[in-house]
Amino acid sequence: MSLDIVIRNAHVVDGTASPRFRASVGIDQGRIVEIDKGDRIPEGKIDINADGKLLTPGFFDIHRHSDWTLLVDSSAESAIEQGLTTEVLGNCGFGPAPAVDRKRVEQNILGHSAKHGIEIDWTTFGEYLDRLDRNLGINVVPLVAHGSIRTSAMGVTDRPAEQDEIKKMCYWVDEALDSGAFGLSAGLEYAPYQTSTTTEEIVALVKRVGERGGLYSTHTRYRIFNSDKGVAEAIQIARESGTRLQISHITPRIFARHMTEAVLESCDKAREEGLDIGFDIYPYEWAPGPLTELLPGWALEGSADDVVQRFRDDQFKRKVVREHRVNLCRWVQLDRWDKVIIVGAPKRPDVINKSIAQLAQEWSKDPWDVVFDLLAEAGTHYTDLTEITHTLDWEDILLTIRDPHCSFGSDSSTLSRKGPLKDEAMMPGCYGFVPRVFDEVVSSRKALSFEEAVRRLTSLPASQLGIWDRGIIRPGLVADLTLIDPKTFRDNTTWTDFYARPGGIDLVLISGKVVVENGCATGAREGKLLRAKGGVA
Ligand SMILES: [Zn+2]
Repeated sequence: MSLDIVIRNAHVVDGTASPRFRASVGIDQGRIVEIDKGDRIPEGKIDINADGKLLTPGFFDIHRHSDWTLLVDSSAESAIEQGLTTEVLGNCGFGPAPAVDRKRVEQNILGHSAKHGIEIDWTTFGEYLDRLDRNLGINVVPLVAHGSIRTSAMGVTDRPAEQDEIKKMCYWVDEALDSGAFGLSAGLEYAPYQTSTTTEEIVALVKRVGERGGLYSTHTRYRIFNSDKGVAEAIQIARESGTRLQISHITPRIFARHMTEAVLESCDKAREEGLDIGFDIYPYEWAPGPLTELLPGWALEGSADDVVQRFRDDQFKRKVVREHRVNLCRWVQLDRWDKVIIVGAPKRPDVINKSIAQLAQEWSKDPWDVVFDLLAEAGTHYTDLTEITHTLDWEDILLTIRDPHCSFGSDSSTLSRKGPLKDEAMMPGCYGFVPRVFDEVVSSRKALSFEEAVRRLTSLPASQLGIWDRGIIRPGLVADLTLIDPKTFRDNTTWTDFYARPGGIDLVLISGKVVVENGCATGAREGKLLRAKGGVA
């Protein structure tokens, strides 16, 4: 009986960081069934000569924001064409469910755009997962977002939660875990959470996650100046709740960069206590966020209509500009508006990829007025506006990466060159994240070996998520695989071209089916919505 697929003469980089070895890999019924260093596997129904190319497990992106884009187009072309086979959604406290107040929760979805014509017709997390679970082109690992849970329980308010509101939030956490969420994410640096969500609130919610063996994933507080405090809080939450912790894009922002070593050491210390702590970083110095992150928490209180009214109110504008604690963005405080670039503006394609400084010059306006005008013009869809800011320095990224607990997450969204998402581009990572890791970290900066970089993108995130049947090339495991030609493997995206296809991705398999051939998606939809069972996958 011949196997479904045999990949012969590959250099297997198995995901454990062991040195590569030459072998043939047999795949049947979606699983890896044989790894043979000789030539004993009979001809497969599909028989591929890898000719010495590199066979790796399919890559994981532990930090992506495709909660909305995969509803619009589930083909996942931009992800699978870079060798990704699994992505984690619901990060940084942003996510589409639960959605008790649909209008308000819509604003808590990074990458949301009203122009896609998709109505939120779900309320619970389970209903959202059922909606997402249609014809997926990539495996998806869902986290439930604290922002949507809080908004569903108490609206958008810049004050601490009352006990009964925390109780309501716990209800929604349980519902999400019952439906298959792998854990809870929070975005405590964002408005209004930085100023209103207490540690106690998060501990109460995360305890429910810990009891079920799930993961607490957090975009920590105070990343501009006091990164160490935000990380210390995350560790305290893990300790008090007994929950596994993933600190998202842990590297302190550029103005707190002197704290990088201390932050990493605090994680080491916590591990000595027995806590389970992982973290991730992206291979870029710039990072995306909603344009509203320039505003203080109180600016976003009330209904969407209330908020829009304010954007046209001079007194409000003066107060925001005056308010000292407002800026998540230190560059704005320094008047460096060239460091804030608009990347998402559904109604204004003409402003895409332009900095606020550039727009201020073109429009002969004060930069703050550019921000208010864009927000006002977007109407109640003001949260659809997204920007990227210069957030990190490569020296700190490398320090972070040298820690063996660091995996990679792109902080981008999954898109497609065809169809309704073809003009969207949040950042180069949408199309080029995986090869960018290898170009920067392995080839040019020589911070990791190829094998170790593969581990950071495969078995490390898989084990952090509690997924035990993917992420390693081993008999019995699911055949999510990527075949790479090292001669042509490279990221072709640039800051002016976000859409370029990577070089060298010869073949991608999901569950033993070919989904990418010669660099191009075949159109096969073999992804699965992975649901944690009782919190443990
Ligand atoms: Zn984040």
